[in-house]
Amino acid sequence: MKKCSRRDFVKLLGLAALSPMIPVVGNGAGYSSALAADRNTGTYDIKHGEVQIFPINENTWRIQEDMVRSFLLAGTKEALLIDSGFHVPSMKAVAESLTSLPVKLLNTHADRDHVGGNNEFGTFYMSMAEASNYYHGENRKGVIVPVEHGDKLDLGDRELEIIGLPGHTPGSIAVLDVKNRVLISGDPIQDGNIYMFGVQRELHAYVLSLKRLETFKDRFDTIYPAHGSFPVSPDLIAPLYTGVERILAGEVQGEDDARNGVPIKKYDIGVATILGDGK
Ligand SMILES: [Zn+2]
Repeated sequence: MKKCSRRDFVKLLGLAALSPMIPVVGNGAGYSSALAADRNTGTYDIKHGEVQIFPINENTWRIQEDMVRSFLLAGTKEALLIDSGFHVPSMKAVAESLTSLPVKLLNTHADRDHVGGNNEFGTFYMSMAEASNYYHGENRKGVIVPVEHGDKLDLGDRELEIIGLPGHTPGSIAVLDVKNRVLISGDPIQDGNIYMFGVQRELHAYVLSLKRLETFKDRFDTIYPAHGSFPVSPDLIAPLYTGVERILAGEVQGEDDARNGVPIKKYDIGVATILGDGK
């Protein structure tokens, strides 16, 4: 298995620069202003459509775009890419430059910043509760191989367990890297802006999911989120759901804002910002 040397990193940037850009889906201008408002993303000086690779250990990599990160986990038989990025021209090529093992894809959910490279993979693991979210997006191809809470995947001497976290989206899932005691959480557990406005999002389900996740807390020591600070502590789980419970009880004053022309409310719950439905 290859390690990511400085030369590989430069090669990846070159690859991104030479490949045709994947067009931005949706309102690019609106997205830029949302990006500027995100917390903890200013430390990555990465051009649009490019990635930076951070090896975590010899068989785990963090693949960082400007505001979203994917992860590559290798076992002895195969590797799993967790989320396929947003604007990277070929996330499959990025993953395959890091390992010689066959690479499969799993999506934590189907929001557009996590499925940008899905069309390069014929099939991908995802919760079937994300089918509507996925196939109603622009230019979405491929076949979902359904996974759900409690399912196990084995990459070869590396067992992964699926933890259901509905709320942010109906089929949001996290991946527990069992032996390494790491939870790869997607969007629900992070300290930046957590998008909870629109028809697919459900604050009550979010609270229930995080309370259930807390019952697994003795099985992981650290959390790798898709946005915000990296990594975060499992101690973030309780203040996130108690903060959302306070929003539901009307105890947190929301601030009027907008995302892509949609009115929203911004709720500062101390450890993160919840973006909820506006009036
Ligand atoms: Zn996201």
